[in-house]
Amino acid sequence: MRSLLLVIAMVVITKHLLDAFMACCVGRRDDYAYQRSDGRYCRAGCPLTYDVVYRHLQGVQTIGSYLIDEQGLCRSAVFDSDASSGQVDLLQVQTQLAGVGVPSYLEQSRRGAHLRVFFRDPASPALVRRWLLPFRPDGVEFYPKQDALSESVPLGSLVRLPLGVHRVTGECYPFVAWSHGQFIPVAASLADMLAWFSTVQRVPVPASIPLPITDQATPTIPRTIPFKTVPTETTLTIRDWCRQHDPVAMIGRYVALDQKGMGCCPFGWHHNDGVDTHPSLWVYRPSSPDLCCWYCHVWKQGGSLFDFFRYYYGLSARELWSHILAGGHF
Ligand SMILES: [Zn+2]
Repeated sequence: MRSLLLVIAMVVITKHLLDAFMACCVGRRDDYAYQRSDGRYCRAGCPLTYDVVYRHLQGVQTIGSYLIDEQGLCRSAVFDSDASSGQVDLLQVQTQLAGVGVPSYLEQSRRGAHLRVFFRDPASPALVRRWLLPFRPDGVEFYPKQDALSESVPLGSLVRLPLGVHRVTGECYPFVAWSHGQFIPVAASLADMLAWFSTVQRVPVPASIPLPITDQATPTIPRTIPFKTVPTETTLTIRDWCRQHDPVAMIGRYVALDQKGMGCCPFGWHHNDGVDTHPSLWVYRPSSPDLCCWYCHVWKQGGSLFDFFRYYYGLSARELWSHILAGGHF
């Protein structure tokens, strides 16, 4: 069965499909590293060819690519979180990047997740780091780690090439998108996932970055969106009502949120002893049509602003909606 699948994979994976994947994910072409059975990487010392990438995608061998190429430039950057909350943490970074017009792509990993930004043209690692490091939350790694290659660091950062089989877990980790409160693979099969690469947006790296920024700088979420009064027209829908309100400001009146939108979850029933003692609730501005705007890391569930108040007050949807239509405020 396994060999049959490999044959199918070889038929389906055309060179055309590989081109988009490699343009996004491969850095250095004259060298790469392969993963050993203990998960560590060994330098291969030979070129990264189509054949090597084929074998990686077929699960025969798993490789990592050096992000900085022979010309000292990089084609992508990677945020890497090994935390169990990595996917959600990096979804937050993805939302912040989208807010400044930078598309990025979330990939599951062995322990957490990667968030990748692909560039239209190869760019200086120093420039890339000054541009994107301010978006890196504490506890998240950022690659490339070097501003430039040097005699003491001739190859620089190595990152696992996506869609291979991890030699320790035997698993292949997909790119995922956040939809209706859960992470969904962007495609159902390997061939479709490769085809998806021809649709990803490769963003131009700014020619210059105005101010030098330190590794520690973190953008803050503006919290000045005014609270709007609730209209009482009967044509109002729950979705309209959710769209009209800023969830960070509104939920922030009930839960003390830090600058990243994290606070202690007020829904105690799924927390030890009924109380969330560590900030587990993430509140964010919705970026998808489902209007989800909060997520509890422990519960592994989230919802809309309307859902939040339904749980908070223990009301049915009908009861809460009647309260809102009657002009009730929160
Ligand atoms: Zn919770």
